[in-house]
Amino acid sequence: MIVVMNINATAREISDVIARIRAMGYDVHLSEGKERTIIGVIGRGRPIDREQLALMSGVQSVMPVSHPFKIASREYHPDDTLIPLNGIMVGGPNLAIIAGPCSVESREQIIETAYAVREAGATALRGGAFKPRSSPYAFQGLGEEGLRYLAEAREATGLPVVTEVMDPQLVPLVCQYADVLQIGARNMQNYTLLHAVGESQHPVLLKRGMSSTIEELLMSAEYILSHGNMRVMVCERGIRTFETYTRNTFDINAIPVLKRLSHLPVIADPSHGVGRWEYVESVALAAVAAGADGLIIEVHPQPEQALSDGQQSLRPERFAELVARVRQLAPVVGRQVAEPQLQQV
Ligand code: PEP
Ligand code: MN
Repeated sequence: MIVVMNINATAREISDVIARIRAMGYDVHLSEGKERTIIGVIGRGRPIDREQLALMSGVQSVMPVSHPFKIASREYHPDDTLIPLNGIMVGGPNLAIIAGPCSVESREQIIETAYAVREAGATALRGGAFKPRSSPYAFQGLGEEGLRYLAEAREATGLPVVTEVMDPQLVPLVCQYADVLQIGARNMQNYTLLHAVGESQHPVLLKRGMSSTIEELLMSAEYILSHGNMRVMVCERGIRTFETYTRNTFDINAIPVLKRLSHLPVIADPSHGVGRWEYVESVALAAVAAGADGLIIEVHPQPEQALSDGQQSLRPERFAELVARVRQLAPVVGRQVAEPQLQQV
């Protein structure tokens, strides 16, 4: 349930409503929008007399939230959530472009890729140090050594680092190196991990599980938000279907649906979404046209030698072409891609 306050409600009226809700055994979550404050009623308490709350001074209306996700919903937070990343606000008119290899493989590989993607106009660097692989015999990532190389690449290029965390116990370690914690598709419903990244208060890129519904994705976001960590981006990365020519089926529908249901920024991952480099640019452009707030793209200097996901990784030159095409398309849908020199920190 949410309590929508009047536009001119006073601080005193807001605190009185909060005190009343807490007295009934609930937690509150505040959404201070451009126009008005909305108070979210969270948890389980005594039955609430909505009419009584509605009569309190400064209250405009009391409404049930029609979705199971509450803090993630647009009803509760009508304005887009904006998350700062390297001088832009993700969720605003500037598109975020996160790029880099699937895995950090060596110091040279990540630093070379970081320079190349920055040159092409990337906002942030991606690279996995802890890799969720289908086979226990496949490359599992360099672990903390990989995190150190990512930090060196950030030092060299100024690009913030997006990297996956798979284990709740490793959240504090990964936070020391990462600017954004990635939750991978396979861990979207690892609730212990979601609690841990929520508590960390670190920005999060939450990927949709390959067999998860949009509602399940937003419920997972809700776990993180329920810890007061509002810096969550949700990511469409393709779902599993009967199609075999592509690795996954990028669910373009998810982008406008997520934008309508939620205020959280939506990032598109065409690399995993289609799984073959030849199609990554087309799907990236489609995602931008559909309203995505950013892209995450796999780039590798020598895809044929990549230790993971080489078949869907772009060479730096192709990535630069992709960014150039996105730059052309962006204004048509009211967006822009910041010029690289504006992104220096
Ligand atoms: C990745 O980003 O390399 C990755 C493992 O993605 P996903 O969790 O979407 O499969
Ligand atoms: Mn990958």
